[in-house]
Amino acid sequence: MKHWRNMALSKRLLIYIIILVLMTVCAIGAVSYTISKRALDDKGKTILENGVVMASAYLDELWEDYERGYYTYDEVVESVRVFLNGQLTPAGHRDLNTGIDLGEHGYFIIYDSKGNAVAHPTLENQNLWDVVDPIREGYYLVQDQIAIAKKGGGYAHYAWAFPTEDRIGEKITYAQYMPNWDWIVVATTYEEDFNKSARSIILVLILSAGLFSAIGIIGASMFVTSITKPMKRILEGMKDASGGQFRQIETISRNDEVGQLVVGFNQMSCAIEKANDHLKRQADRITFLAYNDVISELPNRNRFSDYVNQRVEKGIRSGYVLQLDIKDFKIVNSTVGSEVGDFILKHVGQSFLAVKDEKAMIARTSGNEFSIWFEEIHQSDLIKIINAFKRVLNERLERNQIKQTIDFHYAYAVYPEHGRDFDTLYKHTSIAMKYAKENRDLKVYRFEDTMLEVIENDLKMSKLLEYAIYNQEITVAYQNKVSLTSEAVVGVEALARWYSSTLGFVSPGVFIPAINRSNLALVFGQYMLEQVFFEHHFVHRKFGEHIKIAINISPIFFVEKQFISIVKHAVDKFSIDPKQFVLEITEDVFISDLDNIKGTVATLKAMGFSISLDDFGTGYSSLNYLKNIDIDEVKIDKSFIDRITSDDKTVAMLAAIRRITEAYDYEVVAEGVETIEQIGILKTVGYDTVQGFYYSKPEPIQYEEVSLSEMMDNTDDHTIT
Ligand code: C2E
Ligand code: MG
Ligand code: MG
Repeated sequence: MKHWRNMALSKRLLIYIIILVLMTVCAIGAVSYTISKRALDDKGKTILENGVVMASAYLDELWEDYERGYYTYDEVVESVRVFLNGQLTPAGHRDLNTGIDLGEHGYFIIYDSKGNAVAHPTLENQNLWDVVDPIREGYYLVQDQIAIAKKGGGYAHYAWAFPTEDRIGEKITYAQYMPNWDWIVVATTYEEDFNKSARSIILVLILSAGLFSAIGIIGASMFVTSITKPMKRILEGMKDASGGQFRQIETISRNDEVGQLVVGFNQMSCAIEKANDHLKRQADRITFLAYNDVISELPNRNRFSDYVNQRVEKGIRSGYVLQLDIKDFKIVNSTVGSEVGDFILKHVGQSFLAVKDEKAMIARTSGNEFSIWFEEIHQSDLIKIINAFKRVLNERLERNQIKQTIDFHYAYAVYPEHGRDFDTLYKHTSIAMKYAKENRDLKVYRFEDTMLEVIENDLKMSKLLEYAIYNQEITVAYQNKVSLTSEAVVGVEALARWYSSTLGFVSPGVFIPAINRSNLALVFGQYMLEQVFFEHHFVHRKFGEHIKIAINISPIFFVEKQFISIVKHAVDKFSIDPKQFVLEITEDVFISDLDNIKGTVATLKAMGFSISLDDFGTGYSSLNYLKNIDIDEVKIDKSFIDRITSDDKTVAMLAAIRRITEAYDYEVVAEGVETIEQIGILKTVGYDTVQGFYYSKPEPIQYEEVSLSEMMDNTDDHTIT
């Protein structure tokens, strides 16, 4: 059955058709054979019956002659024997040469009522009463014929041996009783003699079955081939498709279902091929993206990591993971636009590719960070490569009219000293990079184990700071801003002071960066705002309501989503008037999206706050910000002021800045003024407001007595929320 089901459709169809043809031919044959046989048998029966009728007429005539005494009984018997079965041959049996035709092997028998054969071609005078049918056991055929005859005559069937052949054949008899003679006249013959010709029908049928089958097979195979051939092509096409090869199969010039199937297959194959191509392109793209960076066209961190680990497994002796980080890249991006930023990123990568040796690999491992793997080179060669890279990069940027100066922080870790796999080496390089960034210089930092200790210290520091904020160890000192013309205090700046119960006095230069590193910028920012808002009565009482108190806002706090709501909350909580306050921000805030910054500044100004740009001159110092952001004041950094007595260029620059700020109508404040010489120069270039140790150091405010109503207003809930 399984074999049958697995057989090719063409073979199965052929077998079905052959069986159908054969069954049809056999059915027609069987019906025709049966009909014709029955007709011939009927004809034979009639011949036998007619034979008996003729024999009876003859016997009736003889009876009259016998009664008249013309013949003796024996003469009659002999006459009958000759008339019915012919002359006796020398062999002792009748030659059947008679006038009554009973077919090829037909003859007459006459029995008397006791079964004696009065006439018989071979058994004359024998008593046949007990003769039994050779194939129907227990059938006394003579007795049956006698009985039928006596009942009025009729047919009987029995089997008997052929007279000349060694086989038995079916016989048919017609028997009739002659009462005068008390004889039973029987005409008998083999059925075959009559219905032989019916058998030729079978022969004809076999021949025609063969012929029809042959025609059927040829026709069927042509028909089946016309279906299965296109199907085979489709199957081959499908097999190729499952192997990933989508091709068109040969079409056929027919528009029937099979023709449409072929066309449909080709259309489907074409559609799948297109979809597959599309998918393949997408998969290639995904694989590409998984291992490459689109902007710089360099490998990404995944590929870099695989490569480093492979090289390590190869058993190399030494190597370096060098990181270079574009300094203030976010500021570069927001100043010159991200298109130029992308261009720079691309050229950083390409410039390094131009100077690196074969085994080295460069990858863009994150936003503005590139990592380079070097192996088996001397440490001093690293610096040579870095210098060559800078030269190539600058040439490229110049060639492309990019005037932007690009600086880098550098850090590296050494294989195997600092790690034996990519993850460890990269982690240690990143720690060294953190140092490079914090120090804001352009030296090449090598990872040192002591850096890990510093990180641990940072952790301890962060715990102490958290404690300090929640336990109010941090206090506020105020430094005056003074007008050079009137020498009056025109404002104050609130500066955080920390006297730690564990560490003693800690400088803001140490703990402010630590706060920013340890995710405390938000709580600290809120704490300082509320602290200053709480104390402002004492400050204003001391210096007058007109002075503005400046509060430093760290860039991390400023770009925080909750920043505005925290400010609003504090304003409401202490019922302060924002017009009496300045919020100092530094250029670092511009690392974030410029539009957001503008929005935040606009909101603060709408509330009434003034905005001051602190430490101008230390960072990126883009005049672009001065133009784009709606600020009120620019604070020139102390490092600038420090140089004015010795450097004319700085003085010229200060003068230029003054003119610009005047043009934009911004206040300008000189920070860190320590000497009378500095004051003299500042005056000549148009500066009036200064802040520095020359006039005052930051001092805590003394809590003087305030009226009860003022205290009730503001001190109900002096806790950080
Ligand atoms: P800054 O905002 O530029 O503050 C001015 C710094 O210069 C103060 O240092 C002040 O003491 C110092 N200074 C002023 N005049 C002179 C001078 O004549 N000579 C010298 N040598 N120094 C002078 P301080 O208080 O140590 O603060 C350092 C920095 O820490 C501040 O720079 C500010 O960036 C940050 N900082 C201080 N308090 C806070 C705060 O509450 N929040 C935030 N986010 N940052 C703060
Ligand atoms: Mg400040
Ligand atoms: Mg400053």
